[in-house]
Amino acid sequence: MSNIHAKTDVILIGAGIMSATLGTLLKELAPEWEIKVFEKLANAGEESSNEWNNAGTGHAALCELNYTPEKSDGSVDISKAIKINEQFQLSKQFWSYLVNSNLIRNPQDFIMPIPHMSFVQGEKNVLFLKKRFEALSKNPLFQGMEFSDDPEKLKEWVPLIMEGRTSNEPIAATKIDSGTDVNFGALTRLLFDHLKRQNVEINYKHRVQDIKRARDGSWEVKVHDIDRGKIEYHTAKFVFIGGGGGSLPLLQKTGIPESKHIGGFPVSGLFMVCNNPEVVAKHHAKVYGKAKVGAPPMSVPHLDTRYIDNKKSLLFGPFAGFSPKFLKTGSNFDLIRSVKPNNVLTMLAAGVKEMALTKYLIQQLMLSNEQRMEELREFVPNAKSEDWSIVVAGQRVQVIKDTEAGGKGTLQFGTEVISSADGSVAALLGASPGASTAVHVMLEVLEKCFPQHMKKWEPKIKEMIPSYGVSLAQNPELFQEIHTLTARTLGLEGKQTSESEKTLQLQEA
Ligand SMILES: Cc1cc2nc3c(=O)[nH]c(=O)nc-3n(C[C@H](O)[C@H](O)[C@H](O)COP(=O)(O)OP(=O)(O)OC[C@H]3O[C@@H](n4cnc5c(N)ncnc54)[C@H](O)[C@@H]3O)c2cc1C
Repeated sequence: MSNIHAKTDVILIGAGIMSATLGTLLKELAPEWEIKVFEKLANAGEESSNEWNNAGTGHAALCELNYTPEKSDGSVDISKAIKINEQFQLSKQFWSYLVNSNLIRNPQDFIMPIPHMSFVQGEKNVLFLKKRFEALSKNPLFQGMEFSDDPEKLKEWVPLIMEGRTSNEPIAATKIDSGTDVNFGALTRLLFDHLKRQNVEINYKHRVQDIKRARDGSWEVKVHDIDRGKIEYHTAKFVFIGGGGGSLPLLQKTGIPESKHIGGFPVSGLFMVCNNPEVVAKHHAKVYGKAKVGAPPMSVPHLDTRYIDNKKSLLFGPFAGFSPKFLKTGSNFDLIRSVKPNNVLTMLAAGVKEMALTKYLIQQLMLSNEQRMEELREFVPNAKSEDWSIVVAGQRVQVIKDTEAGGKGTLQFGTEVISSADGSVAALLGASPGASTAVHVMLEVLEKCFPQHMKKWEPKIKEMIPSYGVSLAQNPELFQEIHTLTARTLGLEGKQTSESEKTLQLQEA
């Protein structure tokens, strides 16, 4: 039964990229604070942050068409793309700081340069892509982006996608070489290794069951030590709920007013993977297409070169689907258990509004392997079934809440930090743009929860992240400087110049 009653400064729930980033930031800003981590699985980075559970795209809006919607007057709105690009610049600066400070030794263990491309078919889409290119390429953040609708050029850029293409439909692509493939699983593990060296107590196979406010305003966290079958109680002045899809049920347990009227909509995912070296060698890019009509933004199809375990492979997908689980390792009762008296109307309203989406997800779930191959062949006309296998990706729990613009039960596709008024507890909900913007999101947690420390912390934050609080889009010179420095530190300069890339090429030869 219950044994331990222990006090600490900070408790981080979950060992994914978000807790890893927050813990690392806090150890730099307040090294004397005692931090404990509780993770229900046996290792760090095993859920959505794992390299096989997400697409590993360093989302900087270089290729994702859903970040640049077309307005009713036909112009392209690039404001979201600028925002996401700026957020990714924060991540690159923080990661560079970690490399320069020797907290992470080899950046190629988690980040690789890879061109980011958008690829479209059909006259209307080609026109849209051209307008998008014209709008973005004027902005310093997107410098170096190229556009082509010339099939010969496209054969150079994406031979695998062009091989066997017989249709006369107009096609076009944009390409920018400063894109990245990020192994968020490896990064999460590297950060937890670092936190362990900093004496952070990391408790694996410890599932948080409950969170309650203690009399003195701190939080009491009830933890199940899975191996020993014991219950422990730990109190902390600050708790971060970084449980990924598991965050919503934990947030609900806090009972804070900010946790009410919020629901979660789980979306599952599948990828197709190719390890045939001949096929893999013909593709070197992350190529994002346009989402099908009715498809949610997180199921935009893309064909990606991935670097995992020092091996190059290709990933296609994701195929979205419906599953009531909030985590890949979750329970089929997660969704139903998350329905509470305070959110039942919000959830019901979303259920009615999102009938089409639910239908789409169920249809996706029912696809046969051959039907999935047909979708892949829209990208890779010569794709052979024997070269591609299925991997089950992570779960994404989208936030449902009542908004002024969307009304009751509106499905949100972004990430959201929910915190108590006194800043003693915060949770991260939602999954997009996700891990790429972990640094921006965790800075938001610091600003919301530790306003009293921000003045003191600001010089250190600026040392780690020089553009903190400054718009890079409006400061092209600063952007140029930061872009050059981070590219050098993270080994992202030029094409295929990194040592790991050379090793891979040698292995492939
Ligand atoms: C299919 C897919 C594709 C994606 N593609 C990209 C991409 O290309 N680029 C990108 O930037 N992002 C992408 N994302 C999003 C990204 O993976 C997530 O935003 C990110 O990994 C979330 O990190 P996290 O730390 O919040 O959660 P997780 O990595 O899920 O970690 C949460 C941890 O909390 C633990 N936990 C949960 N409940 C409890 C509990 N009660 N007690 C103890 N531990 C608990 C879990 O076991 C888990 O280890 C993708 C996600 C999916 C699913």
